[in-house]
Amino acid sequence: MHLSPLVTSLVEPATLLMARRSRELKAQGRDIIDLSLGEPDHDPPAFALAAAREALNGPWHKYPPVNGYLDVRQAIARKFKRDNGLDYTPDQIVVSTGAKQSIMNTVLALVGPGDEVVIPAPYWVTYSEQVRMAGAVPVIVTSSLEEDWKAPVERIAAAITPKTRLLMFSSPCNPSGSVLTLGEMEALAAVVRKHPQLYVISDEIYEHIVFSGTHRSFAALPGMMERTITVNGLSKAFALTGWRIGYIGAPQWIAQAAMKIQGQFTSGANSIAQRVTIACMEADPALLAGMRADFLRRRDLVVEALKAVPGWRCNVPQGAFYVLPDVGASLKKLGLGASQELCMHLLDHAGVGVVEGDAFGAIGTVRISYATSDDKLLAAVDRIAKALA
Ligand code: PMP
Repeated sequence: MHLSPLVTSLVEPATLLMARRSRELKAQGRDIIDLSLGEPDHDPPAFALAAAREALNGPWHKYPPVNGYLDVRQAIARKFKRDNGLDYTPDQIVVSTGAKQSIMNTVLALVGPGDEVVIPAPYWVTYSEQVRMAGAVPVIVTSSLEEDWKAPVERIAAAITPKTRLLMFSSPCNPSGSVLTLGEMEALAAVVRKHPQLYVISDEIYEHIVFSGTHRSFAALPGMMERTITVNGLSKAFALTGWRIGYIGAPQWIAQAAMKIQGQFTSGANSIAQRVTIACMEADPALLAGMRADFLRRRDLVVEALKAVPGWRCNVPQGAFYVLPDVGASLKKLGLGASQELCMHLLDHAGVGVVEGDAFGAIGTVRISYATSDDKLLAAVDRIAKALA
């Protein structure tokens, strides 16, 4: 059995690993509450399903253009203008098989061996692995609970070298739920301005799940339109994780390069899912208020409930649907080395699946996804508290 150096260097995403373990135990008849996956539990909106049914009756069964149907990219351009104040033309937009592919395309388009990519931690696990797949070096900038899990801009600036080609982050952040303030984004933009070789991937997939204030796009800051790749998709806002649609808005030369990469991997994204994308882009964002209210209620529930877990400390996340408690006290008490061992302990002794925060660059934490029913959430935290008491 001979595997490539690439595959042997890759790790299975911690999120998928825990979800798989939880599923295996469930299949054995164990009662498991799985809080490991980043997936809204809501049903997709009815208009999206209606659009899919309608598309099945239309002429949408052949290969679509690699970067997406023109009218889909036009609808995305209108959404960028309406929600984000960004003026992208359709040829600056590429539709992909999930935002995961959007980011991979961009990374492969912009970096290679010898390049460095600065990633403020905590960060979505896939970022660092995708950078490694491109042969470049991820440079992780740490932060702490006391800093609200946001790496200070001076620390980010200090990590930039002449080899740095990319800076990538998500706000709201997976796994911490932290949201950058406008002031923090402006400070970051000032750093980017000083380094002409530096581009920014601004992952805005959680833009509609912000609990205070409104979402701001990094590309909307002065001078950042030419330097930013804005990533978004249908998975989180429309609870359509399985339809696999993501997209970027980017300077045209980067969009063209991303399209070239995608043309060798997958070609155009699924045609029916692209037709659904038009309906999602045209939907009034006010329709998402109910989902946001559900997540806010659950955030408050889980943050309050976590106070009963001995030694765990957490911030109050301002967006997305994750909370990232510091579990150092439990690691110490149980004599465990890493949060992955605590996750296994909780799966075994509490029947609750959570993900190690270490994989996201936040050592001594676990990520809890609260995209599940209030009852399950309360039961899960209660079980954790009892198992650790
Ligand atoms: N970015 C972030 C920060 C995410 O959390 C996720 C999903 N977990 C994605 C991108 C990818 O989303 P998808 O590929 O489903 O569009």
